[in-house]
Amino acid sequence: VGAEHQIRLAAFRWLEEKTAQDDVLSWHDLQQGFTFQGRRVTLVGPQGIWKPQVLKMPLSITTSPHSDYNDFMRGGYLSYSYRGTDPKHPDNVRLEKAMLARIPLIYFCGIATGKYVAAWPVFVVAADPARLTFTVAVDDARFTVEESLGEADQLRRRYITASFKTRVHQRAFRTRVLVAYRSQCAFCRLRYVELLDAAHIIPDKDPAGEPLVANGLSLCKIHHAAFDRHFIGVSPDYEIVVREDLLSEEDGPMLTHGIQGLHQRKLIMPRNSRDWPDQERLAARFDSFRRAI
Ligand SMILES: [Zn+2]
Repeated sequence: VGAEHQIRLAAFRWLEEKTAQDDVLSWHDLQQGFTFQGRRVTLVGPQGIWKPQVLKMPLSITTSPHSDYNDFMRGGYLSYSYRGTDPKHPDNVRLEKAMLARIPLIYFCGIATGKYVAAWPVFVVAADPARLTFTVAVDDARFTVEESLGEADQLRRRYITASFKTRVHQRAFRTRVLVAYRSQCAFCRLRYVELLDAAHIIPDKDPAGEPLVANGLSLCKIHHAAFDRHFIGVSPDYEIVVREDLLSEEDGPMLTHGIQGLHQRKLIMPRNSRDWPDQERLAARFDSFRRAI
């Protein structure tokens, strides 16, 4: 048990380092894993419930980027499906054992092809073989050993699980929008992901401001701010429109090329028409741009 726990803690440390700059992980990195005392520790495998060779108990559980994450994020905790339909499958049995032994695991949530957001430690807190569903709680990094579970611990877990869900939604929106626009600004083509945002067409505080690619635009920081402040609008026909009073102003190259030069140009669009900005949302947003002048 001691060595197992050391490997687990090493995996948590590795994830902490990996996610220090950017918390979206690539499948490639997770599959490569790291070396612990000369032995390879892979963090994911071909199946959702993953136990690397060096361990006796599972290390991680993964949900595919192609499943709808709203399904497993309903309720206070996360739900995780059994492998297949046989509760006695060795993977399912192992995960039940991990639950009984209160073993800290890693949860990888797929948000786009090859891209994952991780939470650790997570604990399986219930198993429902009839519904083929495990219940999983995310906890704070300080709690890698589960001791007693009082009411305060449960509240903490619910809170941390809820903030993880929010993070997944935000990262999924950003990642999917940037992928759709091939990591460039839809106004100026700037290609540095560090300088790109996923802007909402209908703001996320609005009920219609869902985090869907069709409600997003990949914009560089300057153009995101200019779009949010109604310096620049986008017509429902995907035409970029600069606020009239700005067109006659004289200033340096940023205004001339970065803003005025965009006027009446076409938006740079995603290749897949399914990802194109929704025209109804653009129309609603364009109305508020017009009203703001
Ligand atoms: Zn730009």
